[in-house]
This record gives sequence, structure tokens and C-alpha cells, in this order.
Amino acid sequence: MSAVRTKKRFRINYMRLFLMLLFIFVIAYGVYMLYIGAYETEDTGAASPDRTGEQTEPEPPQVETAAEDENPFALYYYYEPERQGRYESYAASHPVFAPDEVVWRVDADIDRFAYTNISTVTDFTPPVLLNKYRKLPDDYTPQNLVNTSSGQQMTQETKSAYEAMRDDAGVAGRRISAYSAYKSIEYQKGVYNKYVMENGRDAADSFSARAGHSEHHLGTAIDLVGVAETTSSFAGTPEAEWVTENAWKYGFIIRYTAENQDVTGYVPEPWHITYVGNDAAAAMHELGIGSLEEYTVKYVTHKPKND
Ligand SMILES: [Zn+2]
Repeated sequence: MSAVRTKKRFRINYMRLFLMLLFIFVIAYGVYMLYIGAYETEDTGAASPDRTGEQTEPEPPQVETAAEDENPFALYYYYEPERQGRYESYAASHPVFAPDEVVWRVDADIDRFAYTNISTVTDFTPPVLLNKYRKLPDDYTPQNLVNTSSGQQMTQETKSAYEAMRDDAGVAGRRISAYSAYKSIEYQKGVYNKYVMENGRDAADSFSARAGHSEHHLGTAIDLVGVAETTSSFAGTPEAEWVTENAWKYGFIIRYTAENQDVTGYVPEPWHITYVGNDAAAAMHELGIGSLEEYTVKYVTHKPKND
């Protein structure tokens, strides 16, 4: 009995075991198939862009062409490829400026610290750009300095232009006269050093040029006075208004204005006019160009391609 029972019990257990194993196998197979399916889908998803990329060989050059088209600085004729990095960092720190303004400002070194990367001017035909990045040779003396009736010195062509302007202003009832004009490099050195002693270097740099960097050294700059006869009281007078409106007709510009202060690095000086020649003064007036820096980049160191 017990043997039969044992045998029977064993047979039943074997059947159960077989069914259980079959069940486990079916479940395991199902899970495995699900896993494989999921893996294959994932793999295909990840692999397809690579495969597409490999198949379309010209894709990398297309991306490069698109990047060039999107370079906003390269659109301008005064763009210099080697300055690309400087354009990008100046644009990033000055988001208010359009690409055109970024390019000419960087070309004029406005992105540099004042009195760094200084170059020496070698062409002295007006317009001559002097600023905190461009100086005259230390031994420079204008070749055609002449004396004015009021005891100033300026270049011959500056004097002719100034006298025509002064006379026309007088006819219009505006009395203007030259307070100072040519200053030698030694004189300017003394003036600047005195201001540094009195005000400190940073303040002095905001209204006085270091030796070699002054337009007065060129013999083409004039500090004007009106009836009040001091430069500091010239601003806002009828004489200053007349000069603002008419100076360009005689080849002069007002070099340091409130609008171009962040370009020149100088506080406004409505009394300081600079002879740049009739063409440059008229072009700046007509095109609304506000600084000699911008004009020099666009019309002296570079030329428009259709001209
Ligand atoms: Zn001046």
C-alpha cells in the first residue's frame, strides 16, 4: 500500500513539477520577448540619427555654411576675420549694440583698455584720428604752423577754415574766437601732469590727453570761446549753438560730444573743434556719423566696396 501510495504520489508530483516548469518557462519566455522587443526599439531609436548622418555625407559642410551665413559681423566691409573673437566678446558684454556698431567699435579698439595697444600715426593729412589708442611720434611738429591775429598757432588750412567760420559767425551776430590751438608735446605733458596732481590720474584722463595723444599737438584743434571768453562757460550759449549747426560747413567737427563720450573716453567739450577737411566733415554730417573713430574705420582705414 505504502509502495503504491508512494509511486502514485511520485507520479502526481512529477506531473505538477512538469506543469510548473512549463509555466515558468512560458512566463520567462514572455518576459524575455518583451525585454528584447523593448531593447530593439530603444536601439533603433538611438541608432537611426547616426545612420542617417553617415548616409548623408555632405551634412557637416552644410552646418558650416549655415554658421557663416549666421555670422552677423561678416556682413560689413570693415569686418576683419582675425577679430571675430573680439567682436563676439564685445557683443556679449554690450548686448545693446547692433552688429554694425560692434564691428566698427572693435576695429577702433574701443573694446581695449585706454592707453593699451597704442599705435603711432604716420599719415598727418586730415582727417587724423588721435585718441587713447593712437598717438603722434614724440618728435612730431606740424610743418605748416602759422600765427593767427589773436596770437595762436594752427596749420595753414585750419587757420583759413577757422577765419571763414569766425567771420560768418560774426555776420550772424555770433562772436567766437580761438582761445587756444597748437600745443607742443612738452606743453601738453605739463598740462596733463598738473591735472593728475590736482585731480588724480583717472579724472585727468577723462578731460585731458596724455602727451602725444592730444589733437592740439596736430595744430588742427581749436578751443573756442564766445562773449564770456572762457571755454567752460561756452556750453549752451548762442555761439555754441551756432558752431554745432555750422562747423561742418567749414571742415570742422565737434570732437567730444555727450553722444560719443563712451567712444572717445572724454567728457563733452562743446568748445573743442577739430579740422578734418570738408569731405570728412560733410560726410559725417550727412551720414549722421557721431565720432571720428567711426568715420575713420568706415571711410579711411576701410573703403565702401562700391566706391
Ligand atoms: Zn581742446
